[in-house]
Amino acid sequence: MTRLLNTIALLVTMHAASAQKISYDVSFPNMVHHEASIEVTVTGAPQKQLLFRMSRSSPGRYATHEFGKNVYDVIALDQAGKQVPVERVDGDVYRVNTADGFAKVRYTLYANHPDGTYAGVDQNSIQLNMPASLMWVKELEKAPAEVNFRLPEGKGWTIATQLKPTEKANVFTAPDLQYLMDSPVKIGKLIVKKWSLKNKDNKNLDFRLALEADTDQSGATQFAHKIQKITEESGAVFGEFPSFDYGQYTFLASINPYVKGDGMEHRNSTMIALPVKFDGSNNLLGVFSHEFFHSWNVERIRPKSLEPFNYEKSNMSQALWFAEGFTQYYGELILKRAGFTTLEDIARTFSGLVNTKENTPGARRVSPAEASCMAVFVDAGVAVDKTNYPNTYTSYYPYGASIALALDLELMSRKLSLDAYMRAVWAQYGQTEIAYTISDLQQVLETVTGDKAFALDFFKKYVNGHESFDYTPWFQNAGLTLKKEFEGQAWLGNLRYNGELVIAANTIKGTPAYQAGLDIDDQILKLDGKSVKSESDIKTLLTGHKPGDEISVEYEHRGEPKLAMMKLAENPRLVLVPNEKLNLPVTDAMQAFRKSWLDSKVR
Ligand SMILES: [Zn+2]
Repeated sequence: MTRLLNTIALLVTMHAASAQKISYDVSFPNMVHHEASIEVTVTGAPQKQLLFRMSRSSPGRYATHEFGKNVYDVIALDQAGKQVPVERVDGDVYRVNTADGFAKVRYTLYANHPDGTYAGVDQNSIQLNMPASLMWVKELEKAPAEVNFRLPEGKGWTIATQLKPTEKANVFTAPDLQYLMDSPVKIGKLIVKKWSLKNKDNKNLDFRLALEADTDQSGATQFAHKIQKITEESGAVFGEFPSFDYGQYTFLASINPYVKGDGMEHRNSTMIALPVKFDGSNNLLGVFSHEFFHSWNVERIRPKSLEPFNYEKSNMSQALWFAEGFTQYYGELILKRAGFTTLEDIARTFSGLVNTKENTPGARRVSPAEASCMAVFVDAGVAVDKTNYPNTYTSYYPYGASIALALDLELMSRKLSLDAYMRAVWAQYGQTEIAYTISDLQQVLETVTGDKAFALDFFKKYVNGHESFDYTPWFQNAGLTLKKEFEGQAWLGNLRYNGELVIAANTIKGTPAYQAGLDIDDQILKLDGKSVKSESDIKTLLTGHKPGDEISVEYEHRGEPKLAMMKLAENPRLVLVPNEKLNLPVTDAMQAFRKSWLDSKVR
């Protein structure tokens, strides 16, 4: 009896669930003033009341973003189109009663920040990141959604998105909230270029570049060829492409001075905004290779900490050193392998990574896993008060990439490679889409190397710890020499200035300026008794000194003159130089090492 009742109850619930649907109608009657009009209609809801809400975070953006602030004129309507009450229960949450499972909310969205995180509605161009644009219904996260975009007439605009197309023009669907929120939309004068690549299973995958830029068909074609090369080189790392949903991956790209710089990964697309005039050059490619690598690493090789993504708050993960940092490393490596950068370029990039690891206070203070947790504050998070990040935090992007670099070099010295490791992670957690933990990543390293002690040690010291690496012998394998960039030169610390030697950022612990008591907003007046007015004055003065010299510093702090003694130091900055530039030998073994590391893997 009980069982029978339960079955009936289950059937009723299932029926209700299958009939639930959310429909969006998106139009742009006032795009001149950056407004969109959005209507959300729910049918088949079993609930008496529903909460319509704006998101507070966005996939791939880990800090809190108050998207609800740009929504107004919120009204609710019944099936006859008559206005019914709507109760605002939080800044971004609206409660509405249903009638016969129906509820409708209409609102105006203000959108004037075209990038991958927010939204931009303008008479020239439209791009919508869904969490910044669409209200969703808390009780119906699993319900399918349909979105009808009413494109402005007479402009010849088209639309591009990873949402699933329907038979109706400009009407798309998403299976649930997670996919809907993950699907940005670009509307405008788009030049679309397509190419197909065969996947390992012999199925064709379609790639599209939907480009909004001041260029012609041939400029777009040439640029698409470059992006294609990036896709092929990325595929070679893993030995296959992900099986993109609906068989297609889309690069949405607006390269125009009016956009805000951003690149945002999604499951089957990326939204790229580069605030420059389009010139088709290789300088534009870095963000494309980074974002495309994400279609494996973070979209499918997914940390448990981000699964499922929470749209109501910031999303903390200890794995961003891997999800972002390793992607950062590969973004650079793929550009080199595809022939878009030179050995000198990549050596400069690696110099930056080594300095991040060895010479930033954050990386000397906390582990990559701990640095990852800071994303909830720093990932485009907004604060008005000052922080001590310069002394406490190093970005998990370059920090994680410095770990990837070290691990790649170490694995290559063991006749393996980071590619082999990534392929193993892909096979175990990516293809299967089983969300991973950091100890899972350690386990894969153990399997790939067959060296349990090494995997344990590496994760303990460098992922969950912050010990220093000795990169020098690793780089020597590739005929690259790591050396001090400013050997023997006297240094105050890496100071940046506003106006006339007013210190613009927190001084860094351990540097001469910090030790002497100077801090942000202090103005340097005299060094060693001599008046200084500019950075070049300081530079000139320092050439007469060497590390270890003690000199006086006179400065102004909140209007008061101060005098202190400062012990000059040597700038610890390292630089990586190809041996040939230093007239050092580059052996056949070094050339072979470089080739297997930095040359194309596309067969
Ligand atoms: Zn990224």
